[in-house]
Amino acid sequence: MNSELIRDGYPCARKEYECIWCDEYIMVKEKHYYCVFKFDGNVYSNRFHIECKKASSSMDRQERLVNQNLKCGSYIRGTKKIKDHVINDIGWDN
Ligand SMILES: [Zn+2]
Repeated sequence: MNSELIRDGYPCARKEYECIWCDEYIMVKEKHYYCVFKFDGNVYSNRFHIECKKASSSMDRQERLVNQNLKCGSYIRGTKKIKDHVINDIGWDN
């Protein structure tokens, strides 16, 4: 795991984007969290609702490790709860 933040900030959306955390839309002109980072030599960018960024930031190391293989949009907006259908797909008992 070798991830390096290149830049981030809180811009207003110029078009609709999907939040990487919850998969719901970030609306035009909505302030959101945007970050660009390098992971294993590739550059990626992510956009989050502000409340989803807060939920993400509140995860501890253990939670990150457990959840690191989840797909984008696996969480309920603004929380660190995983969506029921995602849990069912994985077959976890929660
Ligand atoms: Zn979101």
